[in-house]
Amino acid sequence: MRLITRIDGLPPHLRAGIRPEEAAYLARLKAQGILPFGVTPHFASLAGAEQGDPIRRQFFPSPKEADKDPAALSDPLGERAHQKAPRLIHQYRDRALIRASSRCAGYCRYCFRRIWTRPGRGFILPAEFPPILRYLGSRPEITEALISGGDPLTAPDAALDTLFRALRRARPDLRLRVCTRVPVTCPQRLSPGLIQLLKDHKPLRMAVHINHSRELSRETRDVLGACAGAGIPVLTQTVLLRGVNDDAETLARLFDACLAAGLSLYYLFQLDLAPGTGHFRVDLMEGLRLYEQLERGGAALPVYAVDLPGGGGKIRLCRDAIAGIQGGAYLLKGPGGRLYPYPAPPAGVLSASCGERVCSFSHNPEGCASAEFANVRAQRRKPLVGGLGELVPPNSSQRGAKRR
Ligand code: SF4
Repeated sequence: MRLITRIDGLPPHLRAGIRPEEAAYLARLKAQGILPFGVTPHFASLAGAEQGDPIRRQFFPSPKEADKDPAALSDPLGERAHQKAPRLIHQYRDRALIRASSRCAGYCRYCFRRIWTRPGRGFILPAEFPPILRYLGSRPEITEALISGGDPLTAPDAALDTLFRALRRARPDLRLRVCTRVPVTCPQRLSPGLIQLLKDHKPLRMAVHINHSRELSRETRDVLGACAGAGIPVLTQTVLLRGVNDDAETLARLFDACLAAGLSLYYLFQLDLAPGTGHFRVDLMEGLRLYEQLERGGAALPVYAVDLPGGGGKIRLCRDAIAGIQGGAYLLKGPGGRLYPYPAPPAGVLSASCGERVCSFSHNPEGCASAEFANVRAQRRKPLVGGLGELVPPNSSQRGAKRR
């Protein structure tokens, strides 16, 4: 799968729009070896030249990635604590995740697995299967294996087939879920042969990461239609991203386009706290307001969810999920009444959430006159679930696996 990894490989209109500070940052990025720059020719062809173009923002590195972000976590989902074998994460009771590949068909600048995601490690080898198969064989409560990465569909068909067959042999009842962005970034990869292979390993469904209606190109719609025609259910996963899809109209257009393409809306995710991604973060209250606006419109929507920072698992985001605010962070209610901090905007920052020009809500919610925060104020007056002693610091581990 060909990736453009240098400025001179980009289409002329994108090349011409690159600013000197961006070019300088790209050179530094290469030297640091963090999340590399890489984009498929197909995805690059969907982008406009302006810095604010929602497709360009997703793949072209911004110097803002180097900004200090005190909220950032090296392991934003706390996956390390749930690792049961190399490449195997078991966090939720009935499903496990296999990091089958570290490669992607282009590198999203907001990637939450950026520590893992890079071309180097490649696709899982048969020699790495045994501990994974042993674990899955000993845990009948696991009913679905998420084949993730990176992006597993960057691997050759034969390697995918070998992995799927091994999983089936170990656990004939296991459902497979292929988590991928390839149908969006490189639809040509979904050849009739690959679609047949996926069909041969049913029960299998695909979760496609898609953030903007412009990503549903004709080629992408064609291959996703072919998957549906082969009886492969396709779910969507969208990340709420500043400057990409953080307005109701853009999200509504995306969800409409997904439904029209026959996809099932699944998750809209609040951004995880990965380093270098703060400029993509949408304030959580602003995200809720957007979601409620869409709900009022009566449209079909995915579930708005957040992975609790540091390993608390996914929760559905709604106002009741916020227990209060402390030290510049929303306190999110996790399993067992534990509280997980997620950054709130600093005092004095313009808040689109409550419409106040200058909002000091994050430090003084009681003083905020906006009805928007009535629920949060009410929550503050009640004793917090479990008390603040239950506040879970980032990266603290959770005991046991949880059901989503
Ligand atoms: S496709 Fe997924 S794993 Fe790969 S860079 Fe994008 S967000 Fe990260």
